[in-house]
Amino acid sequence: MKDELLEIGKKAKEEIEKISNLEGLNNLRVKYLGKRGEITSILRGISNVEPQKRPEIGAIANQIRAEIEELIEKKTKALKEEEKNKRMLEETIDVTLPGKRCAFGNKHPLTKILEEIQSIFLGLGFSVAEGPEVETDYYNFEALNLPKDHPARDMQDTFFINSEVLLRTHTSPVQVRVMEKAYPELPVKIICPGKVYRRDDDATHSPMFTQVEGLAVDKRITFSDLKGTLSKFVQIMFGEKTKVRFRPSFFPFTEPSAEVDISCVICAGKGCRVCGNTGWLEILGAGMVHPKVLEMSGYNPEEAAGFAFGMGVERIAMLKYGIDDLRLFYDNDLRFLKQF
Ligand SMILES: [Zn+2]
Repeated sequence: MKDELLEIGKKAKEEIEKISNLEGLNNLRVKYLGKRGEITSILRGISNVEPQKRPEIGAIANQIRAEIEELIEKKTKALKEEEKNKRMLEETIDVTLPGKRCAFGNKHPLTKILEEIQSIFLGLGFSVAEGPEVETDYYNFEALNLPKDHPARDMQDTFFINSEVLLRTHTSPVQVRVMEKAYPELPVKIICPGKVYRRDDDATHSPMFTQVEGLAVDKRITFSDLKGTLSKFVQIMFGEKTKVRFRPSFFPFTEPSAEVDISCVICAGKGCRVCGNTGWLEILGAGMVHPKVLEMSGYNPEEAAGFAFGMGVERIAMLKYGIDDLRLFYDNDLRFLKQF
């Protein structure tokens, strides 16, 4: 039995010496020192040995076990060290390479223009109001003096979810919602930015576009307040020298109504291709809030008056940046978007 143990010790030492990976080393640990390992198996037969010789056998077994344990431990350390060195050689880091930079995005041109518009009107005492893009026929049309059979509805054909629910064609329904809530408080001074939808699609029209509308209602609001407010806006947006022109127009929700033009930002009024040689560019629609609209929102048109205006953010951005196709805003082409 003594010889057997010595033989196992020798064999174990040789095998541990030869092994070159941690997994194999662990297998050897199990093979020799495990519960069913070779040393343990031999010791199981110790009852067959004469009692006086047992202590000697036990001592040898313990010594061999200790030696194997020590060898395995040393070898483990060596293998781990070797693996680390190997990895360091393979994964060399070139400290002279420049670091990876974070890619910074920039704001979409429409967002920039929208923020600029908002900041101008906030400076003029307006606050920002928002409302649902999926709207009822009542708020989008009827409450704005556009009953079901009104011919002006044709100019604002849209996407219907059912006969009473639709995608809003303008942000005017927000004005109605705000007035209903505010009544009888005065003044009401808001701008309503947001996405709107119409059945149009060409170089200057998109089925979805962005609008900012404004509303001011108070006891003594007049057309000159409207003119002053919009002139100030245009001068901040397009420059001090920009002229404003009001042309009579028609909207069912304002009376009187006007189209507002600015002197051409490209040719300064001399006449060019962009302004069709007129020297003027149309930028928004406006007017005095129709008495019926005030009434439907709860206000008495004898005691309150107001003005309203609406503009397309895309149109303003196209004029400001000199862009000739509205669809560029939605193509998500980085070569275009990175320029702003
Ligand atoms: Zn021009």
